[in-house]
Amino acid sequence: AAQRLATLDPGGTVFAEFTALANANKAINLGQGFPSLPLPAPIQAAVAKIPAMPALAHQYARSEGHPALTSALSTFFEPRLHRALDAQTEIGISVGACEAIFSVIFAFIDPGDEVLLIQPYYDAYPAAVRLSGGVPRFARLQAPVGQDASTAADWTLSMDQLERLVTPKTKMLVLNNPNNPVGKVYTRAELELIAAFVTKHDLLVLADEVYETLVYADAPSPMIKFASLPGMFDRTLTVGSLGKTFSVTGWKIGWVLGAPAMVKAWWLVHQFTSFCVAAPLQIAAADAFRAVEGTDHFETNARRFQALRDQLVAVLRDVGLRPCVPHGSYFIMSEASRIPVMTREESPLITRDGRETRVDYLRARWLSHHAQVTPIPPSPFYEHPNPESDAFVRFAFCKEPTDLEEAGKRLRACL
Ligand code: PMP
Ligand code: GLN
Repeated sequence: AAQRLATLDPGGTVFAEFTALANANKAINLGQGFPSLPLPAPIQAAVAKIPAMPALAHQYARSEGHPALTSALSTFFEPRLHRALDAQTEIGISVGACEAIFSVIFAFIDPGDEVLLIQPYYDAYPAAVRLSGGVPRFARLQAPVGQDASTAADWTLSMDQLERLVTPKTKMLVLNNPNNPVGKVYTRAELELIAAFVTKHDLLVLADEVYETLVYADAPSPMIKFASLPGMFDRTLTVGSLGKTFSVTGWKIGWVLGAPAMVKAWWLVHQFTSFCVAAPLQIAAADAFRAVEGTDHFETNARRFQALRDQLVAVLRDVGLRPCVPHGSYFIMSEASRIPVMTREESPLITRDGRETRVDYLRARWLSHHAQVTPIPPSPFYEHPNPESDAFVRFAFCKEPTDLEEAGKRLRACL
């Protein structure tokens, strides 16, 4: 294999590993973030129209994105960005946010260019940076370890720390808001400091805002899109995901928003990674966006997810796991010191070295095996395992209330 593969963890992504583990243990999968809820009504209605689509609707779509979807997205995003958006040149449709992240990084990062990542981060960022020959530089949110009633707002970003990481080779900052796995929603004051920082150092920003419609009423700030800040549109590529927006992670439809020259750079890579995205699903996605225009669909949806969050927070508190209450996304970082570690006798999978011996992996495995509730160990969201990644496991709450209730029963029986 190519030498560049040596930059990747040979065990593969934690999401594939722990979903397979959950299935093998017949566990409730609170690991990988995919909703196990009924499909939203506008998606069901749009899917019902697919069989009647003309045969040509099933052929290659326009490479940059189906015009029906880019146009629906321009209507959706114009008020959120406080500006007009050209559906032809300022929006592109990708194979999920994953492909958008990968292609944007390949479009802008040369070998040796440095990219600032904020730990804990989504694991695709360092992988894409390294495969492109770029060099990730790691900042870290300060974590509230050992607090009884912490929230995502207690995870704070030190601008001094970011300043110290900048070199003449720094080219890009990746900003994930709301953040996975913490559920932090950045305030305007925090975003303005970041805007001043990227202006001072003339950096590009990859704004991963896949969870932008999942922001809860008690967040310290409503969702503020980074590209809506003064001067930021021209240095920002915003990434989003239909999978999160409409709870259809299996559709793998994402988008990039940005200035025409930047979207064009993304497209030059996209045309050769995938060329275009599943056409009938793009049309259905456009239908779903059009159907909810002028309604309170996303507000209602966020309230529903907030109720699920509150249900799982109560369960985790009840079993003494100290959940850190998220303000956005559908994840909860929860302190895990009460969870025993899996022993080598219990699991032949545990090898002498490698990530299987990390304490967060051993706790997540123990919970999956003994309680039949599977979380995600958070060390893949960090450059190296550390006391902070040891301290937490991540739970997803985008699940049926009955599943969360059953998970509560199982955790109570074991912890
Ligand atoms: N960014 C973040 C922060 C995510 O959590 C995810 C979820 N998988 C993605 C990007 C990728 O999104 P998609 O499934 O649309 O590729
Ligand atoms: N983003 C989802 C999560 O964080 C799943 C990602 C994936 O499976 N690649 O759980």
